[in-house]
Amino acid sequence: MRRIVIAGAGMAGGRTAVELRRRGFTGEITMVGAEAHRPYDRPPLSKAVLTGRIDDTTLPFDLDGVEVLTGRRATALRPGTVETDAGPLEHDGLVIATGADPVTLPGDGPVRVLRTIDDAHGLRSALRPGLRLVIVGAGWIGAEVATTAAAIGAEVTVVEAADSPLRAALGPVVGARTIAWYARAGVTLRLGTAVERTTADGLVLAGGEVLPADEILIGIGARPSVGWLAGSGLALERGVVADERLAASWEGVDGPPVVAVGDCAAWWSRRYGRRLRVEHWDTAQQSPSVGAATLLGGDEGDAAVYDPVPYFWSEQFGWMVQFAGMSGVEGDALVWRGDPDAPRPADGSRPVGWSAGWFAPDGHLRGMVTVGRPMDMVAARRLMMAGGGIDPTRFADVAVTMKELVAAG
Ligand SMILES: Cc1cc2nc3c(=O)[nH]c(=O)nc-3n(C[C@H](O)[C@H](O)[C@H](O)COP(=O)(O)OP(=O)(O)OC[C@H]3O[C@@H](n4cnc5c(N)ncnc54)[C@H](O)[C@@H]3O)c2cc1C
Repeated sequence: MRRIVIAGAGMAGGRTAVELRRRGFTGEITMVGAEAHRPYDRPPLSKAVLTGRIDDTTLPFDLDGVEVLTGRRATALRPGTVETDAGPLEHDGLVIATGADPVTLPGDGPVRVLRTIDDAHGLRSALRPGLRLVIVGAGWIGAEVATTAAAIGAEVTVVEAADSPLRAALGPVVGARTIAWYARAGVTLRLGTAVERTTADGLVLAGGEVLPADEILIGIGARPSVGWLAGSGLALERGVVADERLAASWEGVDGPPVVAVGDCAAWWSRRYGRRLRVEHWDTAQQSPSVGAATLLGGDEGDAAVYDPVPYFWSEQFGWMVQFAGMSGVEGDALVWRGDPDAPRPADGSRPVGWSAGWFAPDGHLRGMVTVGRPMDMVAARRLMMAGGGIDPTRFADVAVTMKELVAAG
């Protein structure tokens, strides 16, 4: 293999370049990214960048000897050639790492999204005390932006179509335990409220009510950025279809090896027996090592199978929220660990926090959320990776550490 092209210069694209070199690839690597920036980290955008604590999240990747074309977009793919707005890039190996694009709403209102560092700087400079900020979507990003904007003194309203925040990730019962956080932060939360469109005056809700806004932030999810691959012959299905080693497949055409990594990859999960596409930092961080090994054709056996337990964290309303595994599978039992309704200590000391676990009928821990209990998460992730179970009754007792529980089996 002489030349590898990487489409997408985010975390997953940048990490793959580093991994290719680490694995001894000495040929040419060209990375093409639509943004004007070299690879940077996104999680701080809705946290430290928005609060003004940091400005720059450039990742410390060693990309010496990698040609990085910033501000250039891949527009189409033919077997062996990526068409870009800077001309064709021929290759004999391709990495697809084009991530995801935020979903927006119909209408002509002055809306914002939060995906890029430029979006984050733009939103940060708009935030001020008294600003009427309407956020559409009480998901991870909506909650994080609401936290910061309210702390700055903006009048924040979050509009959510579902009957609880974080419903898609945590289900309605656990998601509902975060409702009180909004009121405590002075944020108005309107659940079960669908939005029709945006206008210059604000948000038009289903039913016709107009919610006035100075700024509107849409945080209703993202879609894989794979439009440029239409008609290429690569299998696409809500992302780039990839096998458990992250190899993409050509349909009816012969082409060079292609792998997909990060947010845009819809890979076959050996663990869950189905296709997954997971828009989490951990995926962008971990999948490139497997993608690089697959592209270079090494024989590392099962070590080169991408088989994670999905993991995500969020910082919202003063809480560190972490989630791993799967939630909401029919027949699973939800078990609480600690009291989600316990008031915060009046003396300002650290609250105990709480967790909740989803147990499969055979007793194994399928998913877990922790709120202010990071040590629970460390042990739970290890347990889930091993596919193990613990006693749900003892799980409910916060006096027993997760580490002890896991050791007891
Ligand atoms: C504001 C925000 C906060 C987040 N917070 C968390 C968090 O707390 N915890 C967590 O686990 N995850 C979080 N995430 C998710 C995490 O950041 C993503 O999963 C991760 O960035 C995905 O990396 P990626 O490289 O696959 O895709 P991306 O980061 O999207 O990078 C893809 C790059 O490809 C470029 N591109 C797209 N199309 C083309 C094209 N045709 N040609 C060339 N380039 C193209 C894009 O412009 C982009 O720069 C957050 C995401 C955002 C946006």
